[in-house]
Amino acid sequence: MGDLPVVVVHGGAGRVDPERLEAHVAGCARAARIGLERLLAGGSVIDAVQASVEDLELDPLYNAGRGGSLSATGALELDASIMEGEGLRAGAVAVLPPYPHPIRVARALMDSGKHVMLGGAGAGEFARSLGMQLDPSMITERARERLAEHLAGRVGEGWAGGTVGAVASDGTHVAAATSTGGTVGALPGRIGDSPILGAGNWADDRTGACSATGVGEPILRFGLARYVCERASAGAQRAADDALAAMQARVGGEAGLILVTAAGDVGVARTTTTMSHAIARPSGVHSGH
Ligand code: ASP
Repeated sequence: MGDLPVVVVHGGAGRVDPERLEAHVAGCARAARIGLERLLAGGSVIDAVQASVEDLELDPLYNAGRGGSLSATGALELDASIMEGEGLRAGAVAVLPPYPHPIRVARALMDSGKHVMLGGAGAGEFARSLGMQLDPSMITERARERLAEHLAGRVGEGWAGGTVGAVASDGTHVAAATSTGGTVGALPGRIGDSPILGAGNWADDRTGACSATGVGEPILRFGLARYVCERASAGAQRAADDALAAMQARVGGEAGLILVTAAGDVGVARTTTTMSHAIARPSGVHSGH
């Protein structure tokens, strides 16, 4: 575990079209490298996970920021959260209108120290106060097509995958960030697991940092991210596999997660067909699905 720091990124559990899979994995590798470079340049673990997620929020291949999944009424409602493991400080936004970089909004809220979570119009107002502009072009043609297919009954369970997340360790501290457009065709105002601390995202230096992905409702009910972190001392990979099995047995639902401990032990697991991901360490980047 001496090869530190480490940044782990996922591009969502689900079922990526085979012709897009290579690009999906390559994007994760790029984002993980960006986070690692941030750390190597003197940034903190929270800076690193933010940088990785911001990169993927700009990439319309993923279900986060630009290109995110649309609600039943065709709205782009963005969820994101960020957390650091030293003082358990966190920021989250839910049902954020299309402002670029939901994770940056969540980070600014964390840094403000005033609140932990903002939703809907208030989250938008806060983004505007940071100088961001509403950007309707973040709703892509492909997202519109996916919604149309879903409404026509051609896409099962309203779930696209493609949520993004990152976790990082510098050997002492951990952090986690997760960002998503949610599930295709969800009721307006639906909030998934991604912005909820302990469910889709969690970081505690004493246990570990996790970003989860998959259909949000079972992940929310099970509290997956904190559950797996609290078992990470048994070995991160084993904890990751066991947590997904435990969730499936208790509430059902397929999911994926990335996990890192403060010592840099990494777990990557999924019960879905794919979860593109990458692990970046000073010795190199390993990626897969
Ligand atoms: N967990 C996300 C949500 O339910 C979706 C995903 O991970 O693909 O909003």
